[in-house]
Amino acid sequence: MERLYWTKADVFEAEVEVKAVGANKVVIEPIVFHPEEGGQPADRGLIGEAEVLGVEAVGGQVVHTLDRPLEEGKYTARVDKERRLYTASQHTAQHIISGIAENQYGLKTTGVHIGPERCTVDFDKKIDGETLQKLERQSNEAVGRNLPVETVFNEPEVRARSELKEIEGDLIRVVKIADIDKSACCGAHLGSTGQVGLIRLIDMESKKEGTRVYFLAGRKGLEFSQQETMILKELRKTLRCATGELPEIVQRNLEQVGKLNREVNRLWSQGLADMAKSAEVIELGSSKVGIQVAEVPGKLAAKLAALIAGEVEGVGIVVSETQIAINSNTLDAGDLLKQIQGRAGGKGGGSARAANGQLARAVTREELVKILKN
Ligand SMILES: [Zn+2]
Repeated sequence: MERLYWTKADVFEAEVEVKAVGANKVVIEPIVFHPEEGGQPADRGLIGEAEVLGVEAVGGQVVHTLDRPLEEGKYTARVDKERRLYTASQHTAQHIISGIAENQYGLKTTGVHIGPERCTVDFDKKIDGETLQKLERQSNEAVGRNLPVETVFNEPEVRARSELKEIEGDLIRVVKIADIDKSACCGAHLGSTGQVGLIRLIDMESKKEGTRVYFLAGRKGLEFSQQETMILKELRKTLRCATGELPEIVQRNLEQVGKLNREVNRLWSQGLADMAKSAEVIELGSSKVGIQVAEVPGKLAAKLAALIAGEVEGVGIVVSETQIAINSNTLDAGDLLKQIQGRAGGKGGGSARAANGQLARAVTREELVKILKN
C-alpha cells in the first residue's frame, strides 16, 4: 500500500480516514506515519486529539496504537516533525553512505540501525581507517551536490538492502539518488541530499567478517563534532600540548604510570614483609594472634594478614582505617570478624581460613586487643 511520505517527503500533515482494528488500534488512509521497520524507528504524532504511541507494519497493514479510543471517521493526522526529520536525515545519510560504499568499495550493507544518539550501518567486509575517511568525504560531496531523493515503483531487479519487509508484494518502492544509490526501501527520507547538511562517520568496529560503522547526520552530527572539539581543548589544556601531540604524550604518560606502579608494588612487597614481622603478637588461648593497625592499600590488607598468620603460625589481623582483613591457621577467622564487628559494627564475612570486611568506625590496636581478649 502506497504511503504519502514515499512521494511527498515534506508533507507532515493530512486529512485521513480512520478505521478501528482493535482496542486503541487504527489504520488510516492515506498512510502518513512511517512504521518501525528497516532499522528506522516509527513516527510519532497525533491523529485528531489522540496521540500515536506506536506504528507497526502487520499483516499487510500499517497499524497505529493510540493513547485513547478513536471513533471511525475523518481526522487530521500530524506527524511529529522534529522526530521525523531526525530519523529521515539519518536514514537518507545511510542511503548515501551505503550507495557509495557499494559502488566505490564493493561493500554490501547487511544491517542498519537508527538510534536516538547514534546510528549504525553494517558492511559485509573489513574496512580500514583510510577507506572510512574517503567514504566520509565522498558522502559529504553527495550532500553538497544537493541531489533529489526520488521514489519510483516496481523497477525490475532492484533488491531490498537489508531486512526491509514489503507490505504488498505487487508494489515495490525504489529509492533513487542520482548515480549514488538505487534500492528498494519502505522508509521515510528527506527530499534531497542537501537537506542532510552533514554526514559524520564517527567510529567503526570489527563485527565477525564485516565492519560496523557508526554515523551521525545533520545537527546531531555537528553537535557530536562540537563536543569532541571541546574535549580535545580540555585535553590540550591539561596536558599542555597541541592536538597532534596528544597520542604520543598520553602514551608516554601511561608508560610512566606503569613504571611507577611496578616500583610501588616492589616497595610494598618489601614493606609488607617488614610490617608482618613488626606485628604485635598476643595470645588467645593456645593460639598466637598478630595484629597490625596501619594504612595499607586496600587490596594488600588481605595479603598482609596472610603474611602475619604465617609469621606467627596462628592468626593475622590487619586494620587499615575501617577496612579489616583476617587470616588464620588456627582460630575461625569468620567468627573473629563477627566478634570484632559485634563491638565496632560494619559488614563483611568469610570462612574459617580468611575473612574481610569494613568496620563502622576505625579502631585502635589497644581496643582491638581488648575486644579479642573479652
Ligand atoms: Zn530508505
